[in-house]
Amino acid sequence: MSQLGTKCVQGGYIPKNGEPRQIPIIQSTTFKYESSEHMGKLFDLEESGYFYSRLQNPTCDLVAARICELEGGTAAMLTSSGQSANFFAVFNICNAGGHVVCSSNIYGGTYNLFNVTMRKMGIDFTFVSPGCTDAELEAAFRPNTKCVFGETVANPALTVLDIERFVKAAHSHGIPFIIDNTFPTPINCRPFEWGADIVTHATTKYMDGHGSTVGGAIVDSGRFDWFAHADKFPGLTTPDPSYHGLVYAERFGLEGAFITKCVAQLMRDFGCSPSAQSAYVVGLGLESLHLRMPRHCENAQAVAEFLESHEKVKWVNFPGLKSSPDYALAQKYMPGGTCGVVSFAVKGGREAAQTMMSRLKVAIIATHVADAHSCVLHPANATHRQLSDAELEKAGIPADMIRLSVGIEDVRDIIADLEQALSAV
Ligand code: PLP
Repeated sequence: MSQLGTKCVQGGYIPKNGEPRQIPIIQSTTFKYESSEHMGKLFDLEESGYFYSRLQNPTCDLVAARICELEGGTAAMLTSSGQSANFFAVFNICNAGGHVVCSSNIYGGTYNLFNVTMRKMGIDFTFVSPGCTDAELEAAFRPNTKCVFGETVANPALTVLDIERFVKAAHSHGIPFIIDNTFPTPINCRPFEWGADIVTHATTKYMDGHGSTVGGAIVDSGRFDWFAHADKFPGLTTPDPSYHGLVYAERFGLEGAFITKCVAQLMRDFGCSPSAQSAYVVGLGLESLHLRMPRHCENAQAVAEFLESHEKVKWVNFPGLKSSPDYALAQKYMPGGTCGVVSFAVKGGREAAQTMMSRLKVAIIATHVADAHSCVLHPANATHRQLSDAELEKAGIPADMIRLSVGIEDVRDIIADLEQALSAV
């Protein structure tokens, strides 16, 4: 199967004779074996198979395989959240004493994970603006830099990353580029086609698509040559004493080493594994991803154009608008559309924003983004409440900014709802 729509519905799981049509939910902690010798081989990674769902579960793996096909990767795994996917993707190759170059425009939760929690683990981060000059980007690298990290379309700043530029910088330093592709999903952008090495997802968003299940995924392109830069990545290129001296990049090749190490070490030790039930829900969501994403994008485009022409609206930010500074990048990397999230401000600042939002009926006030239901958030009054107006400005989140996640309801109702709410301001 070659087309994305077919991969969404059937990728990762083709039932054999007499097997269930739908991905089966294998809700079992453990699996039976005839001999302890066989079990020993599984523990030594000499044979593949399931033994304990903290590490791997068949339902989770089938869904991961579907995401892997959609991204065009060679191996993938699910995690229990987008947070754990980003943590694992970086920590798998960067430990205490290491350093990461990271786009400054990323999801606030990821920023906190990196800038606070992972710093406590002895990992250093240099944040660079996605629009920085080549010289500024180059200056961010150090001899101990292990990877570069960014978001295809940043939440909530909606900046579009120049993937090729960041890939080039990473590769010129012999390190991989990791990209969080949550907002566009592989329907709108496939970062491996632009040279990225590892892709992460919060499947919580469009992949589940219905606001029901928190989850994450990591996909490897299988192209980064760990041995070519062996001194930087000893975890993949030297023996792992916890598996009798196995060398991941040797045993599992470029195509399997990164994910196998991540499962065998990080899942084993941290256990951020999704339940089979949760994975099943993500699998169901994926079956309509190719139908939902174009509708999200169409609706968001119409909403952004409506808001831009409204006299009570101060500004609108959406990469699909010609007025967006990222329009050209969006056209290059995501000609079919970016995502369904639009940000804007109404004239009258914080107070006007709150009045308008309290009048909305179709779009509900919620922390979430990127599912079938339209929802709004006033970051200055919610997720970023602790920041002063000056600090908000510095973080690229103006105090008057409203984040609107445009759902797949009928766009006429979404716009009529915004119209009546704006009339109250
Ligand atoms: N990455 C992006 C781009 C996100 O928007 C989010 C959550 O909003 C995450 C990662 C974290 O995902 P989760 O909430 O599933 O941990």
